Amino acid sequence: MSLPPRVLVPAAIGATPPALGGRVHEFAGATMGTTWSVRLVAAIALRREPVRQAIQAALDEVVAQMSTWDARSDLCRFNAAAPGTWHVLPEPFHAVLACARDVAERSDGAFDPTAGALVDAWGFGPSQRRGVPDAATLASARAVAGWRRIDVDPARRALVQPGGLALDFSAIAKGFGVDRVAQALDALGLVDHLVEVGGELRGSGVKPDGQPWWVELEQPDAGSGERTLLALHGLSVATSGDYRRWFEHDGTRYSHTIDPRDGLPIRHGLAAVTVIHADCMRADAWSTALNVLGPDAGLALADRLGLAARLLVRAGDALVERRSAAFAALLR
Ligand code: AMP
Ligand code: MG
Repeated sequence: MSLPPRVLVPAAIGATPPALGGRVHEFAGATMGTTWSVRLVAAIALRREPVRQAIQAALDEVVAQMSTWDARSDLCRFNAAAPGTWHVLPEPFHAVLACARDVAERSDGAFDPTAGALVDAWGFGPSQRRGVPDAATLASARAVAGWRRIDVDPARRALVQPGGLALDFSAIAKGFGVDRVAQALDALGLVDHLVEVGGELRGSGVKPDGQPWWVELEQPDAGSGERTLLALHGLSVATSGDYRRWFEHDGTRYSHTIDPRDGLPIRHGLAAVTVIHADCMRADAWSTALNVLGPDAGLALADRLGLAARLLVRAGDALVERRSAAFAALLR
């Protein structure tokens, strides 16, 4: 028997009048090794092609700057650069780096945008090697990682390559891409929209019937357990989970989320962490950070920072839900 869904509603709903005379238009495409989708309210006669192009251009810009998979991206060129060289950063790259650094500091290094070599050593990076790395590979990856090695000259918005530092924005760039698409739509006057990139979502305004955009929170085992619906009204939601990417070796399951503090994939039984935040970039980064911290430290930090977070903990075959106070306050 399936349970009726719970609903999560932010207090501000109802303040915005419904958009009149519009209908919902749907768009979809590919980016960052995954898919994107957009639903927005506009007149029936909307010229769709310029809108599709604006969405794709916003995402292409993020890829051109921050992809770990495209050797021509600003990020890949920085990672491959000679020690001691300075690199002037485009504004979006600089904004993501600043946010990533902030989350790294406040999570005491659980989130680390310089974990690129470690991610690659465990086979989740561009080199495509798979399996458990040998001790020497792991030691050299750990030696070059560390968010404290990030050194930015704010006056020039320039970043120095201290030698071997490998940035990886995969835990934050999808959320940032969602925010950029939302900004591009706002600039076109399309303020009632739901934007999604690889499962990370952001919703603004309302549908033609005056209802907010309702979304269902992602679950590892779709269909089982209690469903939770969220009204994305000026809000974003992102999920980090071990069920998304992993490999198995000798009966052990290795997550693509690495704990930079010991260089090993996380292994504390957290199936998924969902964070609700105004910005999708922050929702994305914090869901990864709390996922690394684990059920206890992750929940404690979420409560200390007032983050709305839901942690699903594996207990045998079941999933046990733990909620931060700010998440519980959204439940109705
Ligand atoms: P997400 O699905 O948003 O949690 O992002 C996972 C991706 O972020 C991985 O595939 C890695 O590329 C990268 N990553 C892994 N561990 C970390 C970490 N501790 N801090 C930041 N990024 C990480
Ligand atoms: Mg993330």
